[in-house]
Amino acid sequence: MRLRHIPGAEEEIAGSPYVIQNPREYRGRWALAFGNEDPVVIEVGMGKGKFLMELAAANPHINYVGIEMYSSVLLKAIQKRKETRLSNLWFLREDARTLADIFGFGEVDKIYLNFSDPWPKDRHAKRRLTSPEFMAVYDKILKAGGTVEFKTDNRALFDYSLESIPGAGWTVKMHTFDLHHSPYAEGNVMTEYETKFAGEGKPICKLIAGREAPLTV
Ligand code: SAM
Repeated sequence: MRLRHIPGAEEEIAGSPYVIQNPREYRGRWALAFGNEDPVVIEVGMGKGKFLMELAAANPHINYVGIEMYSSVLLKAIQKRKETRLSNLWFLREDARTLADIFGFGEVDKIYLNFSDPWPKDRHAKRRLTSPEFMAVYDKILKAGGTVEFKTDNRALFDYSLESIPGAGWTVKMHTFDLHHSPYAEGNVMTEYETKFAGEGKPICKLIAGREAPLTV
């Protein structure tokens, strides 16, 4: 999702109370930013933030952080966020490659990857959010016992992920090729893209990955 340049977007993001402007300063001490010790859950590639807004409303004792690299997209999330009364949802305008500079070892309890860009060409494989390169970043910030939850409509990206994630030393704890018609459908929160693709009749794939202990320690 890449929208056109929107005049004023940079200024609005820079002045938004919902966007953490200096996230590297909180590395290893995010409880200071949140003002509590509640768990930290992030969505990488949040888009317009629908999914996290629903989760944040349902779970007030979890701190949610949405990561989005494009200002034009983040602006849409900020505008929707203003219409809520949530106190447990923040945004970062960052490329997920840098997440280990932002969160300390084991500081994140769960990572969501929803409808990540597929990057179908082999030469772009490193950009896929389930590539070994990104899994190594998640390994640094995810606490022991924490999980990565990934949903996509893209079967090629899902098949790739079923190989790349174990290849990176992780365990795929569950997977389904048709989430909405599986026992895992209960409690599923739909993302914006999921609503669109499911409406077109496309099956939604989901996996949950974890490792018993951080691989890097
Ligand atoms: N998760 C949302 C959903 O399911 O509706 C949005 C999905 S959209 C296809 C993928 C989003 O991930 C885009 O907004 C894109 O800008 C963002 N994205 C892709 N690569 C990223 C990266 N390396 N770091 C941060 N955001 C990224």
